[in-house]
Amino acid sequence: EAKQRGRNHYHFYTQDINAQTYRHLMLENELSRALDRDEFQLHYQPQISLATGKVEGLEALVRWEHPEKGYLNPGHFIPVAEDTGLIEQLGLWVVRRACADMNRLETTGLPVPRMAINLSPRQFRQADLAAQYAAIISDAGIQASQIELELTESTIMQDIDKAVEIFGDMQQLGFRLAVDDFGTGYSSLNQLKHFPIHTLKIDRSFIRGIPQDRDDAAIVKAIVAMAKGLGLEVVAEGVEARHQLDFLKGLDCESVQGFYFSRPLPYDELCEYLQASESVKATTASSQG
Ligand code: C2E
Ligand code: MG
Ligand code: MG
Ligand code: MG
Repeated sequence: EAKQRGRNHYHFYTQDINAQTYRHLMLENELSRALDRDEFQLHYQPQISLATGKVEGLEALVRWEHPEKGYLNPGHFIPVAEDTGLIEQLGLWVVRRACADMNRLETTGLPVPRMAINLSPRQFRQADLAAQYAAIISDAGIQASQIELELTESTIMQDIDKAVEIFGDMQQLGFRLAVDDFGTGYSSLNQLKHFPIHTLKIDRSFIRGIPQDRDDAAIVKAIVAMAKGLGLEVVAEGVEARHQLDFLKGLDCESVQGFYFSRPLPYDELCEYLQASESVKATTASSQG
């Protein structure tokens, strides 16, 4: 009987693997066509300065408008794009699109000082990545200092020597560098000080519990204090509620990003958001003066 069960179990397991492999292959095929078919889009999430209330940057977040499945978030396809190497082409597309949209915003009278762009581990190891990105942005008339490249703490920690080298190249070209999902990757202060980084982004898992959860509150406080000590800016990710914002305002945290202010927005909705935040400021200014 046990044998029987074992066999059945094996049978289902195999089916499961087959289904998984099949889905993966389908996705691979569809992904490789998606670039040609122009099925990717960028959504932009505002980063708000706590001092001024202004939008000081945007994070570009890729979406795939799949012909049958609708909008797919990056968690569904970035890992496959990583495996197949398509991420390299997709990454170049992301930079081009983001620069083009920065220019469109400027022409529309809604300029944004900075754009944050994510890099995954494979892109990070792409030999000529920094030079390729530099060429794209200079073609678009964007300064490297307007672009902040984000790498997760765990990506960096996978190969610290390599990371120091690549960060060095990128810094030389003038890019700003950010450590994404900070607090989840087990880096040490001692390692961090070797990196030419500008910004730490506190992972949203710590923001979730503030201020009630005493551990989260202590961790967030400590990260902000440490960042200040190292001369880094801090962005809190995943701010969803007023009480979280109020807690962060009491710290020396430069900026926040999260659903409390805005979800990642498609270009047209971003324009509306920026316009609205402009007119709020204008109204406040005129009622004061
Ligand atoms: P990330 O860089 O840490 O991006 C932040 C993620 O948190 C985004 O998920 C965003 O939609 C989500 N988020 C923002 N505010 C809130 C909030 O208040 N609450 C909650 N619950 N979530 C919030 P998204 O867009 O699904 O992206 C997931 C990850 O995919 C990103 O994490 C990034 O690592 C990766 N990714 C996105 N776009 C790209 C890209 O163009 N290239 C590469 N290589 N990776 C990308
Ligand atoms: Mg990011
Ligand atoms: Mg993050
Ligand atoms: Mg993440």
